[in-house]
Amino acid sequence: MNAASEPAANRVLPGSPIESAASGRPAGKTDPAMITVQDIAISYPGIKNGPAVIQDINLSIRDGSIVSLIGPSGCGKSTLLKAIAGLVPPSRGRMDIAGITPQEAAQRRLVGLVFQEANLLPWKTALDNAAFLLQVSDKRISAKEARERAAENLKLVGLGDALAKLPSQLSGGMRQRASIARALTLNPQILLMDEPFGALDAITREEMSYLILDIWERTGKTIVLVTHSIDEAVLLSHEVHVMGVKPGRIVCSITVPLAFPRNSQSFADPRFRETEILLRDRLIESHGRPRQAS
Ligand code: ADP
Repeated sequence: MNAASEPAANRVLPGSPIESAASGRPAGKTDPAMITVQDIAISYPGIKNGPAVIQDINLSIRDGSIVSLIGPSGCGKSTLLKAIAGLVPPSRGRMDIAGITPQEAAQRRLVGLVFQEANLLPWKTALDNAAFLLQVSDKRISAKEARERAAENLKLVGLGDALAKLPSQLSGGMRQRASIARALTLNPQILLMDEPFGALDAITREEMSYLILDIWERTGKTIVLVTHSIDEAVLLSHEVHVMGVKPGRIVCSITVPLAFPRNSQSFADPRFRETEILLRDRLIESHGRPRQAS
């Protein structure tokens, strides 16, 4: 069975472990699913009678795991993320976030979102920006408490010295750190990140990957990341789901056989390269191109 005809079954690297026993914080087989997606299809209102943007999507994302979605532009990665966030209703199928619907999960602030653009309010300091969403979404929380939580999270993302700075005084990477702190201040169980580092230079991007690993080590959040970077997907993820187009669907899912904690040394692990090559191959296929001769 080739990758394109294979349903969204987990594809494990031959001869490689699903998770290394040396994993620092493994998402073990017994961890419960935090996100379950069953046979969903999504059509946008304007194209209701047209083909679904994504279809036949099945996913089970374990509590405390990091999962990446990768695939060509337009294959529906953001749409799937928005559905998990409760922003786009599926036209078919079922979704379950920690035992409730995505809309309920959003209302209970179980889900935090980080986008490519930091979207900070330019007239507010980093501290006030990080506190802002919590303050507007929960009137029971005092401004003082929201700011205390925001300050903690700004420290966690390495902005402890920049609380009083305005967005214009922050670099692109620092602004994105502030937007991550803003999402964390809601204390979500799940962090959804849509190309969060797409606008950053390569070195800053790599630093942000280590930041995500650090946040994950400290908080154990479930993280779903949309990325175009194969390196980023391999470095960060327990599992990578490769999506294809026409229709938008998952063409294969790869379990990354690298131990945690991961860091710059992980790039030197031969299994990193092995996974990277496999992913590249599947991505080429997902673009509808034949596999290249090796
Ligand atoms: P990706 O994130 O993989 O680039 P998207 O989820 O953004 O893909 O988009 C998938 C498809 O859905 C694209 O063809 C896009 O044009 C379409 N689409 C996205 N958002 C909307 C919308 N709000 N209304 C109609 N079509 C949309």
